[in-house]
Amino acid sequence: MQLYDRGYAAIDLDAIESNMKAMRDHLSPGAGIMGVVKADGYGHGAVWAARVMDSYVQGYAVSTVDEALILRRHGIKKNILVLGVVGESRYNEVLDNEIRIAMFQYDKAKLFSHYGAARKKTGYIHLAVDTGMSRIGMRPDLESAETAKKIWELPFVETEGIFTHFSRADETDKNCSQQQLLKFTSFVNMLENLGVHIPIKHCSNSAGIIDLKQAHMDLVRAGISIYGLYPSDQVDREAVPLKPVMSWKSYVVYVKTIEPGTPVSYGGAFVAKAPTRVATIPIGYADGYSRSLSGKGQVLICGQRAPVLGRVCMDQMMVDVTHIPEAREGSTVTLLGRDGEEEITAEEMAESGGGFHYEILCSVGKRMPRVYYKKGKAIDCKDYFSE
Ligand SMILES: *Cc1c(COP(=O)(O)O)cnc(C)c1O
Repeated sequence: MQLYDRGYAAIDLDAIESNMKAMRDHLSPGAGIMGVVKADGYGHGAVWAARVMDSYVQGYAVSTVDEALILRRHGIKKNILVLGVVGESRYNEVLDNEIRIAMFQYDKAKLFSHYGAARKKTGYIHLAVDTGMSRIGMRPDLESAETAKKIWELPFVETEGIFTHFSRADETDKNCSQQQLLKFTSFVNMLENLGVHIPIKHCSNSAGIIDLKQAHMDLVRAGISIYGLYPSDQVDREAVPLKPVMSWKSYVVYVKTIEPGTPVSYGGAFVAKAPTRVATIPIGYADGYSRSLSGKGQVLICGQRAPVLGRVCMDQMMVDVTHIPEAREGSTVTLLGRDGEEEITAEEMAESGGGFHYEILCSVGKRMPRVYYKKGKAIDCKDYFSE
């Protein structure tokens, strides 16, 4: 494994499959899955993630046109929806690659229709409805319903879907989500009354999938759950058993013992009180190991916890291995994941550094190759520096 001499993210493809099965078993009848692979598949590598889940999903969701194009270039054929606002400069690529885009403004829809007419190609849109995020989307009122009807009637534009997004479905109290659901279904009914029938209705993120079976509709948008994490500790974990997909490994590059009074790292934020064995790890905040874990994070070496000493540097950090005599140059370091009986979860890292577990996964840097495992064997490696 020393091929990746600084470290790598190990991606367990079997865990993705197991998570897809767990979700499928829990879905309400009639609901399909849209696999959210935005942000390079939450840091796991969108292409491999998409390949592995392909038979479980009806399509994919990403955040940008570029993310959609990467999937297309790698042979992903199913529908891809861009969840964010797409600028006019990308409309031709969207049309040529049959990428679906979120839409909610008439002027932009009309412009998209013109582009479609010029290219003699139908553009597919999903109407975004703002029921409580105040992010994107039309307000669910009568005026918007009229706008939606005008969009629906545009030539070269097919309104294939309509969706909204929960802001608090990961909380124990589902009151807000119920309100959002009600606003969304009332708006859909309003459209139906105007003769606007949109085939695909969707609103559930992972939290909705787990806790709101009544909100599964035609499609659910599975994100974090694919990657084996729960959206929060307030959802019903029993309902959908998930396995973490990513582990993050590195190696000790140097070990030494320092005398009492010796400072470690920038600013001397840590000073040894006793003789201390210090291991240097070639990972820093530029690799996505948050600087806010300075003096707070822990890593695993030889199955034991080693605390981060002083500040995390850009490309390196030091940990205390005084109590781990087996630790030496070349020892494997687990920054995230399991080593023997011990495990460092993304939730733990988020808690220690005051971060967010989704962000931990997305932040693992491009200097870390993603190594893909099936049945415990490495079958492929994505190196972001191969060009
Ligand atoms: C990111 C995102 C999702 C997935 O959310 P998870 O909490 O990761 O399941 C679903 N829908 C929209 C609109 C999103 O932006």
